[in-house]
Amino acid sequence: MLSEEQRTEIKAIIETMIAEAEKELLLLKELTAAVAPDTAIGRISRMDAINNKTVNDAAYRNTRKRLKQLYNVQEMVDDPSYGKCVRCGKPIAYERIMIMPEKRVCVHCST
Ligand SMILES: [Zn+2]
Repeated sequence: MLSEEQRTEIKAIIETMIAEAEKELLLLKELTAAVAPDTAIGRISRMDAINNKTVNDAAYRNTRKRLKQLYNVQEMVDDPSYGKCVRCGKPIAYERIMIMPEKRVCVHCST
């Protein structure tokens, strides 16, 4: 069972993570802007640009998904069920919550 202090601490962590993810998302959005078809940087560089775009697109999707989870979980921190695994119902280790507050399953159920 999480204490009030722990919940307050988790909320602060989630806020920081959201701010970082928002920043990252903005940056990735710029990086994933469409690669110009007639770019004058040459064939090799253009292929590099397309490869990077694929990587950045995936990073963008992951970050966006994580951000959504963080926003969802932010509203749940005060809920008594928060901090318990949604699968087995056992308490999730506080260290795990601090590192990945958006995860709602314990380390045993996540594998
Ligand atoms: Zn579990």
